Amino acid sequence: GNGASVPVLVIGTGYGGAVAALRLAQAGVQVEMIEMGMSWDTPGSDGKIFAKVTSPDKRAYWLRTKTKAPVSNFFGFPIDATIPKYTGILDAEEFAGITVYQGRGVGGGSLVNGGMAVTPKQSRFSSILPSVDAAEMYATYYPRANAGLGVGSIDPAWFETAECYKYARVGRKHAQRSGFAWTFVPDVYDWNYMKAEQAGTVTRSALDGQVMYGNDHGKKSLVQTYLAQALATGRVNVSTLHQVTAVAPRSGGGYTVSIDQLDTSGNVVGTKSVTAGKVFFAAGSVGTSKLLTKLKATGSLPALNNEIGKGWGDNGNVMCGRANHMWDPTGSLQSTIPCSGIDNWDAGGAFAEVAPLPTGIETYASLYLSITNTTRRAEFSWNAAANKVDLSWQTAWKQDSINMAKTIFDKINSKEGTIYRTDLFGAYKVWQDGLTYHPLGGAVLNKATDNYGRLHGYNGLYVIDGALIPGNTTVNPFVTITALAERNIDNILANDI
Ligand code: FAD
Repeated sequence: GNGASVPVLVIGTGYGGAVAALRLAQAGVQVEMIEMGMSWDTPGSDGKIFAKVTSPDKRAYWLRTKTKAPVSNFFGFPIDATIPKYTGILDAEEFAGITVYQGRGVGGGSLVNGGMAVTPKQSRFSSILPSVDAAEMYATYYPRANAGLGVGSIDPAWFETAECYKYARVGRKHAQRSGFAWTFVPDVYDWNYMKAEQAGTVTRSALDGQVMYGNDHGKKSLVQTYLAQALATGRVNVSTLHQVTAVAPRSGGGYTVSIDQLDTSGNVVGTKSVTAGKVFFAAGSVGTSKLLTKLKATGSLPALNNEIGKGWGDNGNVMCGRANHMWDPTGSLQSTIPCSGIDNWDAGGAFAEVAPLPTGIETYASLYLSITNTTRRAEFSWNAAANKVDLSWQTAWKQDSINMAKTIFDKINSKEGTIYRTDLFGAYKVWQDGLTYHPLGGAVLNKATDNYGRLHGYNGLYVIDGALIPGNTTVNPFVTITALAERNIDNILANDI
């Protein structure tokens, strides 16, 4: 409540925040978590907690009046629909040059993501986090993160026969015929539940079009893993529909944290001020960067260094579709959970997920989300006139990523005698170059912070989320965000608590 005093306050309940809360609580520390989104635990009138990809309603989007689907068109026709403004689960946050998709609610991005839980190749780790001891990460912290997240692997024999992964088998065939390395990708989805969905013995979720607006079943989000464990300690409290707006040092020690309380239409219905001994910024790459950029510029935290807001990247995300021949149908029943990828990182700078297009009808389309080795990095800056934080990303920079993705798909198209789909992202548009699902950086490790996330300029302020990672992880990012948080909190517990 207003005027409360807490030893530790964590801003955000995504991967970084959940790791911090669990490990602090296990060490006996009382933790207050502040989350701007809702707690997703109550079914709507349709009996479901979450909306389907094919029929988004108010639950689907954070304070939008129109949906903003990443695949925005079908046969060229726009498919976005009007919805009531609501504190829904997926935020399509628009900056001048890019739309950044993020999860909102208890569990952060774990609520909306595909659950692809990829540990990068150790040989590539030094390009991701050069100041971090790779041997220690791969011996201790990646295994700890994988265990904590409940990462599992698809049964390869079942994969060969499952109707819902026909699209992935077509993706494999085409990749291999062009000589590319194709791999299974682990996931936090419960693979036994997936099998039961295919067999028709349980209520379907991944096989019923649920993913980026949430999964009612099967998916192990942070709510089922780290956050469940954290709450079970009895030392963690979560305040939902509460948004941190400021953090400032308090005379006499600690920090004053200012918080807006929201209603489900996004109106501010109250403000609170809380005193915290230590504050962990875990609002995600964008949330943490926006807060720190604003607080440095507007005088609340003037001693933060000039690395604040820098080193932001999109993990090189770019999407495309291919039109298959009639003898290569991808299936009308598609699991929304991807299970495989094409690795052309070393030769061409691209790692591509073989993604579903769960429309419920045969589309003969293969969809891909590529992660590419782009060196483009943007900066957040305070726009005093507009009273907001801007991001300097330019849409044209995606051309680098498109060129890298083309090292895979131009070759496959030429081998198969196929073409790119031109109807999925706007009429005659081959590449979805306007978005990222993987925002990274803005308060980079060993630059804006020390080598463990302690913000320079202040004692007791930490960054512990994707903002620490300088723009790219070579694969999907959440396992690396979790493993780095595990490493950093170990050091913080040993030295600061
Ligand atoms: P987040 O998980 O973003 O958590 C930040 C939390 O802080 C949010 O809950 C937010 O509401 C809250 N918050 C923000 N600002 C404030 C504030 N001022 N006050 C209070 N609370 C605040 N990654 C993978 O590895 N594999 C995948 O398959 C995958 N698929 C994805 C699919 C989609 C559609 C999306 C959007 C993302 C996907 N990702 C995937 C990315 C992954 O989800 C993110 O990298 C990850 O969630 C980032 O973790 P984080 O701890 O940095 O922050």
